[in-house]
This record gives sequence, structure tokens and C-alpha cells, in this order.
Amino acid sequence: MKQLPPDTVRLLSSSQVITSIVNVLKELIENSLDAGASSIDVKLENYGLDRLEVRDNGHGIKAADTPVMAVRHFTSKICSHDDLQHLETYGFRGEALGSICAVAEVSVTTKTVADDISTQYMLNFTGEIVSQKPSHLGQGTTVSVLKLFKNLPVRRQYYSSTKKCKEELKKAQDLLMAYAIIKPDLRLTLVHNKVVVWQKAKVADHRSALLATLGPSAVANLLPCHHHQEQPEIFLEGFFPKPGADYSSTSSSNPDKTFIFVNNRPVHHKDIMKLLRQHYIAQYPDDPARNRYPTLVLKISVSPSSLDVNLTPDKTQVLLHEKQSVEMDDSVTNHSGKEAPKHSDTALST
Ligand code: ADP
Ligand code: MG
Repeated sequence: MKQLPPDTVRLLSSSQVITSIVNVLKELIENSLDAGASSIDVKLENYGLDRLEVRDNGHGIKAADTPVMAVRHFTSKICSHDDLQHLETYGFRGEALGSICAVAEVSVTTKTVADDISTQYMLNFTGEIVSQKPSHLGQGTTVSVLKLFKNLPVRRQYYSSTKKCKEELKKAQDLLMAYAIIKPDLRLTLVHNKVVVWQKAKVADHRSALLATLGPSAVANLLPCHHHQEQPEIFLEGFFPKPGADYSSTSSSNPDKTFIFVNNRPVHHKDIMKLLRQHYIAQYPDDPARNRYPTLVLKISVSPSSLDVNLTPDKTQVLLHEKQSVEMDDSVTNHSGKEAPKHSDTALST
């Protein structure tokens, strides 16, 4: 038996963290949000396979930190596992930039308030700086990812098919929409091959953010709702289909318009999704399109200490500890005047 060479180990583990084009985008956007950005521009060429660039106006990276910014397991966000109890940032593992470097050509351009000008750093396979030069960009950080999956031919081939590319672009837009909804004051643009695919200006509140993302007809069918549960403390807020709303206009054949957030993190939570679907199927028993996903926004806020986001490498799945049950009672989901689902049906045992 032989130990694998370090470069092989790096490539194997990085390709588990950076699984898809959208996954790269998600990591870079979350870094921008963690840096306090109020404006994020995403540029893709050839669906992100040739170039994927995320530019923000956040606080930038201090010159002293740049040598380790993309070295795996270096992070400015936590110091120890205990800090996860109070986690307020999207990132915490110091894995994304380093992993992207292992599967693409990466450069980072950054400027903090303390810097006179920005600097562009070219990084190698292990995330170390190989060269640097002055740049004209303003405050913030721009990460450019070229030739994504260049050393993972099967994956690059997989994402090169026209069908898959288009799916990824759609997912990229859905992802930006999720951040647009949860961060109304964020300005976002998505440009593909120099064409603006989607954009959203800074707005004042969640309703305006919904209008900008889902459009007026979808929003007209949604009602704001909120609910607070003590012991364990859980806040539920969101926008749910109005009673009697035309279900066909408040649902979609994909779950792409069912936005679920846990502590501001867009998540795919199968149990919650199932629960919401069951609830709305019960509401519209005669609708031929009832086997669809409701368009809605559900924002769940819990103490960071009762949440484990370190479940999957892409952090899209979360675990709520302490066998918490979120009782989605009448005030949250049942507007129809029909009998509310029994609590045993609606408890989220996660
Ligand atoms: P993590 O987000 O888990 O810390 P990353 O590999 O994504 O790990 O990023 C490493 C570090 O690089 C971050 O902790 C942060 O200090 C810095 N960084 C990355 N992207 C940005 C950005 N857009 N703005 C400011 N700092 C950034
Ligand atoms: Mg990160």
C-alpha cells in the first residue's frame, strides 16, 4: 500500500468541495457578502467554464493576509470549532478559494481602504501567490476563475453539454435571486457572454426585493407571515400563497421558486420542502397542477448554536439540533379557512 501524493489528495478533496459551476459562484458570492459587499457583479463566459468572475465592493483583503488567502484552511472568520456556536458568516472552513485554485486558474484583485491602489494576485494549484501586479480596480475584491475543471476532464465535459450549461446558468440566476431576496439592499448583476442575463438594484425591504425578483403577478399572490416560537426559540418569517390564490400562478413544476433560508443561508431542506408541499397539496386537492411546488419564501432564524451547517461540502444542507420541531401553525401557513393540518403532520423533526 502507498500513500497518495499530496497533489492527488488536494485534487481529490478539492473536487468534492467544488462540485459544480454554481457551487463556485455560491462560494465567491458568500465571500463577498461576508466582506460586507453591497454590490456584486457576476460575469460568465461560456457559462462560467472559460471565465467566472465575481466582483464586489466589500472591505477587501489586507495585504498581510493575501499570501494565505487561498491556502486551504486559512480563514479570517473563525478561530476554533467553538466559534461555530456564534457563527454569523457564510464561510468558516477556509476551503473555497484553495479548492478552486486546485481545479482552475485563479487570480484575486483586492483593495482595502488602507491601500492606495488595488493589486492583482495570480495563484497556483496550491493557492500560493506566483506573481502580482498593480490594478486599476476600486475598493473590494474581484476573483477571476479561468478554465474551470481544466484538470477534471470528465467534469468539464459533463458541464460542456448545451443542456447542462443552460441548466447551470438557470441555477446561477436562481441562486442570485435567493441572495437578492434575503438581502434587499444588495445590488446584483449577472452577465453571460457580455449580455446582461439578470440584475437587481438595491431596494428598501423584502417585499420590494420580491417584486424585483419574482415579479408583480407572483408577489400579488403572496402574503407576508411571521411566527415566533419560544423554547427552542425560532423565528419564522416569509411570504406564503394567499388563501384562494390561483394555484397555477403560485406554483412551479420545479422547487426553484420555493426559497428556504436558515439563518439567511439558502438551503435545500428536504423535510421542510416536503412539509410545505404536503400542506399546499392538502389545500388544493382538486387542482390538476397540485403536484407542483409552491412559490414562497420561508426564512427560519434559530440560534447559531442549534444549527450545523457543516453537513455537506457545499453547505446547502443544514441540520437543526436538539430535535427541534418547528410547528408551522395556522398563523404561518393556513390562510384558507380549511382545517389546519394536524401538528404531527407539520412538525419538522430535523
Ligand atoms: P472562508 O470563507 O471559509 O474563510 P475562503 O477560502 O472562501 O474561506 O476564503 C478565505 C479567506 O479569504 C476568507 O476568510 C477571507 O478572509 C478572504 N476572502 C475571500 N474572498 C474575499 C472577498 N471577496 N472579500 C474579502 N475577503 C475575502
Ligand atoms: Mg468562503
